[in-house]
Amino acid sequence: MEELYIGVDLGGTKILAGIFDSDHHCLASEKTKTNQEDGYDAVCGQIVETIHAAAELAGIDPAKVNGAGIGAPGSISSDESRVLFAPNLGWRDAPLKADLEAELGCPVWLGNDCNVAATGIHRLELEAKPNDMVSIFLGTGIGAGIITNGVFLTGATRAAGEVGHMVLDPDGPVCGCGTRGCFEALASRTAIFNKVKSAVNDGAKTLLMDAGDDSVTRIRSGKLRRAIEAGDELAAAVLGETCLYTGVAIANLCNLLNPEVVALGGGLIEQLQADMLPKIRDAALERIMPGARQVRIMATALGDAAGITGAAILAHDHT
Ligand SMILES: [Zn+2]
Repeated sequence: MEELYIGVDLGGTKILAGIFDSDHHCLASEKTKTNQEDGYDAVCGQIVETIHAAAELAGIDPAKVNGAGIGAPGSISSDESRVLFAPNLGWRDAPLKADLEAELGCPVWLGNDCNVAATGIHRLELEAKPNDMVSIFLGTGIGAGIITNGVFLTGATRAAGEVGHMVLDPDGPVCGCGTRGCFEALASRTAIFNKVKSAVNDGAKTLLMDAGDDSVTRIRSGKLRRAIEAGDELAAAVLGETCLYTGVAIANLCNLLNPEVVALGGGLIEQLQADMLPKIRDAALERIMPGARQVRIMATALGDAAGITGAAILAHDHT
């Protein structure tokens, strides 16, 4: 009988679920907005509903699935059964594995969302299977999955890899974590929004303003791309700063870890890689020491699917 796996990418804003065959091909996927304000039990119910909707699209019985993998936005217990801390979901010590196994009737495996997405890129996209790789995901926040000497970097208390909170400017803007000048506070989509908003408050005009209004309430990556394509100077300047800080962060990581590959993903890269990748490469290569400069800096072609693909691989590997 054909083996089938579920891959779930659980985020603070959306839940993505896919049904995969044993060659890691996605048969169907479904997306839901996360109602994280309704609490843990409600979000568990949403995860199950999203999986069932994807199974229906794929024309399969969810009870026949061999296993499920989930990438969750936070730190995961060493036995991979609990989400220890997920600030974007407001969860502490959540027994997600046991609760989903009871609902789904198949084994469930948990991983950190960035590590899981890095697994998807590493296994499906990179022929050479590098032993040393850094994946950076640029979106609302900035996350990373770091493989060094063939294993994921976890650190002494499973808190390693917080690339988004590397300080790049001690006098920079305040980050969500309370520190000033973190990479995330300088180069995430949230940082772009804050910079555009303050320029507009100072009287700047930009295509990023709401239609018929002189304010900015949200900036999606697609809107940013269209503004840049239309020659919007503020959008280009702010994105240029994002590329500079991303290049500086990559140079720091390359000088520290000497990876073979730096893979970039997330919503900003998915929409804007043609514009961003050359600028990021230039800013990084200027600052990488000669011994580490052979690094390949690339954008993932998996896009949004990196997370669900990696999650299905996690389930496949364990089952
Ligand atoms: Zn921070």
